[in-house]
Amino acid sequence: MTIQPSSFARNEDEFLPYGRHAIDDVDIAAVVDVLKSDWLTTGPAVSEFERAVAYYCGTDEAVAVNSGTAALHCMMYALGIQPGDEVIVPTLTFAATANCVVYQGGTPVFADVDPETLLISVNDVEAKISPRTKAILAVDYAGQPCDYDRLQRIANKHGIALLADACHSLGGSYRDRAVGSLALMTAFSFHPVKPITTGEGGMVTTDDPQLVAKMRAFRNHGISIDHHQRRKSGAWHYEICELGFNYRMSDIQSALGISQLRKLNDRVKQRQRIAGLYNRALTSMAAIQPLAVREDVSHPYHILVVRYANESQGITRDELFAKLRNAGIGVNVHYIPVHLHPYYQKNFGTQCGMCPVAESTYKEILTLPIFPAMRGEDVQRVASEIVLASRQSTQMDAA
Ligand SMILES: *Cc1c(COP(=O)(O)O)cnc(C)c1O
Repeated sequence: MTIQPSSFARNEDEFLPYGRHAIDDVDIAAVVDVLKSDWLTTGPAVSEFERAVAYYCGTDEAVAVNSGTAALHCMMYALGIQPGDEVIVPTLTFAATANCVVYQGGTPVFADVDPETLLISVNDVEAKISPRTKAILAVDYAGQPCDYDRLQRIANKHGIALLADACHSLGGSYRDRAVGSLALMTAFSFHPVKPITTGEGGMVTTDDPQLVAKMRAFRNHGISIDHHQRRKSGAWHYEICELGFNYRMSDIQSALGISQLRKLNDRVKQRQRIAGLYNRALTSMAAIQPLAVREDVSHPYHILVVRYANESQGITRDELFAKLRNAGIGVNVHYIPVHLHPYYQKNFGTQCGMCPVAESTYKEILTLPIFPAMRGEDVQRVASEIVLASRQSTQMDAA
């Protein structure tokens, strides 16, 4: 049975956000069931959600945490990242991809992106490997899986780990292998705009039981035995052997996640359909180019990013952005290259010029609204507002 996302009533001039969660009555009932149960946290729904995500991704294990950022931090901890270690990350990503390296005292090294796909540039990864490099943390930008076979060959050659930030790409696949099973460890986010949501939440998938044991302790203050084991031995005793955090996911969140995961494949199809409608609506506009999508992937379109040729319609990307926002189209820009943020410039000496492709592309990219409940009329509305925005400017030039 296909369950439709909750209707999202709006009229023509209502604000169209760039992303929106899809929650239905089945999701709500699942949360209510947990609220009436004995376990609000660390109960059966958490392990059920972990098993469901591991099964979906085709991995042996999954570790639930309370955000995508916590999932990334768990991976850095489990890998043993420490001061002096370097982790290569793409610069065109959300800052959390790099921040997690710094949490462990490591140094993020920023790689440039491929000009066609805006995914991490495999050649630049290779160029940035040093004797201190411990891992490559690839990001499936916009939802498109990276070229994991090529990245894995580089990782093997240098004896380093390949990790994935798949906060955009749950539901995607690469060469018929599911995202989540393509790297040593993979991090997911369940923030409301992401492919499925638990309100806030995250998960790490992996096949390695030792990494799993480290992450399970780390998400729970570093406590070496969990309360299930403690109850079995009838003991009050526990030990802190390593410093951890409270990164636990609740049963309330997990119940929502289990229910959401059942609908993921339908949601991905809806997103792919909307992306197809955009491609058709935008082909006639020479100034707007969709990003390249490789043939060996299934792209779940977490966000729909296009490139706008600045000035080609008499206006800049920033002016187009402002006009579309004024017209109620919730466009966005993903992302400011992380190496340009003042924190990184100040503490890691990064600067403009280090990743030229990402820096120039950043001035051209625009994220258009995409979410499962979007209708064909909404896509048409975005397309005609883009046409209108450039026409107004041509008329103003003429006047
Ligand atoms: C959303 C996101 C994160 C962080 O996830 P949270 O759940 O918000 O902590 C990390 N990396 C990328 C690429 C993201 O899009």
